[in-house]
Amino acid sequence: MARRRQLYEGKAKILFEGPEPGTLVQYFKDDATAFNAQKKGTITGKGVLNNRISEFLMLKLHEINIPTHFIRRLNMREQLIKEVEIVPIEVVVRNIAAGSIAQRLGIPEGTRLPRSIVEYYYKNDQLGDPMVAEEHITAFGWATPPDMDDIVHLTLRINDFLSGLFLGVGITLVDFKLEFGRLYENEEMRIVLADEISPDNCRLWDTKTNEKMDKDRFRRDLGKIEEAYQEVARRLGILPEAGSRDLKGPETMQ
Ligand code: UDP
Repeated sequence: MARRRQLYEGKAKILFEGPEPGTLVQYFKDDATAFNAQKKGTITGKGVLNNRISEFLMLKLHEINIPTHFIRRLNMREQLIKEVEIVPIEVVVRNIAAGSIAQRLGIPEGTRLPRSIVEYYYKNDQLGDPMVAEEHITAFGWATPPDMDDIVHLTLRINDFLSGLFLGVGITLVDFKLEFGRLYENEEMRIVLADEISPDNCRLWDTKTNEKMDKDRFRRDLGKIEEAYQEVARRLGILPEAGSRDLKGPETMQ
């Protein structure tokens, strides 16, 4: 089969031209990077798992009317998405202190924050994705004030929904990163959720043991990375049990 035209290659994904105008194919690689790509590696099977996990979460968010770029999963490593104009901002939501906030502000990792905190980072590899305020975003025109209203509103709804969904399967949603895009349809522009939601861009801790089930296992050389991603998928009910091809629903934890 003739290969589709590649439009962009990122650290963990490749974007190809889609079958119809306004669509793209998002391919999930096994490559992993951390610390602004200073640390590089491969996690066997990660792309397959992230494709499934992100599909599952995007479909769940669709059920509560969060607009997303996701159309459908095509195969083990690819999904069909709507072409959007990416807002060059990484939106990070934090429920519990970990990673950079713990370091920068000297808050012990694991401290529950007084309320969920939303932070913005300017997407620019050369600058190392610096943290910015809404003032910078609107002054430099990376997003307009109405775009930011939509982004914050959607982000907080996504956080509430995903926190509950993960809690139901024994996982604490510590923090995560979202990206949004502008979707132009019928002469109208809408802000929609883009990129992916997976253990690559969330911190997920086992509720009982606080064991890390996310990319921190790679960042901090904790081992058993693929197993952790698999366990997230298994708890969400999207991995067939060994020997069975039936897909179960989410597994409720007491
Ligand atoms: N994150 C991400 N991409 C980035 C930076 C952060 O997906 O380029 C996610 C990260 O996985 C974590 C959250 O955003 O779930 C907060 O990350 P933090 O600011 O603590 O940065 P880190 O120290 O992990 O680089």
